[in-house]
Amino acid sequence: MSFLNDFFSLIYPNVCMACGKPLFQYENCVCSICLHHLPQTDFHLYIDNPVARLFWGKVHINSAASFLYFNKGGKVQHLIHQLKYKNQKQVGTFLGALY
Ligand SMILES: [Zn+2]
Repeated sequence: MSFLNDFFSLIYPNVCMACGKPLFQYENCVCSICLHHLPQTDFHLYIDNPVARLFWGKVHINSAASFLYFNKGGKVQHLIHQLKYKNQKQVGTFLGALY
């Protein structure tokens, strides 16, 4: 079975959804380097975070947060594009579980 997996991965390599480099067998969806450098906001730790402030005076909410900072052309944008435009649903599952 492992031989078949290795052979299959030669033809269709699993690649990092953030940087496009091949994944090691122990990695899933995002390589260790990208995973380590994902720009986490930690907004969920603060009730008055920048995302929550967007809603102040407009809509009553209990809390709001975002998981990652978004930079145009960055790895987070690439991840979101994989999910949104390339039908790579595992990116959503991966990020949701990570959050
Ligand atoms: Zn990567």
